[in-house]
Amino acid sequence: MDVRIGITATGELVTFDTASSRPLLLVGDSGRGKTTICRYLTRWWLADTNRHAHVFTPASTEWADLRCHRHPLDEWPPTWDAPGCVEGSCLIVIDEAELLPATAWASLPLGKVPVLLTARDASLIPLPRSDVEALPCVGLICPDSTDPVELAVQEGQTRLDWPCGTAAIIADQRSPLDAPCHRWNTPTPEWVKAQ
Ligand SMILES: [Zn+2]
Repeated sequence: MDVRIGITATGELVTFDTASSRPLLLVGDSGRGKTTICRYLTRWWLADTNRHAHVFTPASTEWADLRCHRHPLDEWPPTWDAPGCVEGSCLIVIDEAELLPATAWASLPLGKVPVLLTARDASLIPLPRSDVEALPCVGLICPDSTDPVELAVQEGQTRLDWPCGTAAIIADQRSPLDAPCHRWNTPTPEWVKAQ
């Protein structure tokens, strides 16, 4: 499923294919929506009830509402013997990839299962820069920002603290109730009015 996550500064759609096993690294300053995009893509993944997610995060309560196995970032390697861990059923989310120990990266099944990663500062990810730059990466910017660095990115310049080749995007705004919707699960009138 190709899921829309935002647009570029020139208005082109940016999507992520949840059926792909390509990883996705999201970078950006605090509050730009990295975790929100991860949660949105995870909700799409979990719309198939045969699937689940493994979330590695320092925020123990942030993912409590989703059907996922939460793991502390310093507990690696993880145990992949959770009920239902079969091929095609697992999504891995690493929220704050800077905190994942260097030794963990070798056992991360990149390219085999979908992996979503976030980082506020990708230069702190304990990997050679070339390995970080091999990850498909999008950088989140805010269209209303007055920060000169973000304004420069909107005009097509690169950010030195982002991996080479990072695509700058303006993330779609999401509400807490903005979940994948089945036809029989229509939004409430109050929710529609609020949009
Ligand atoms: Zn699993």
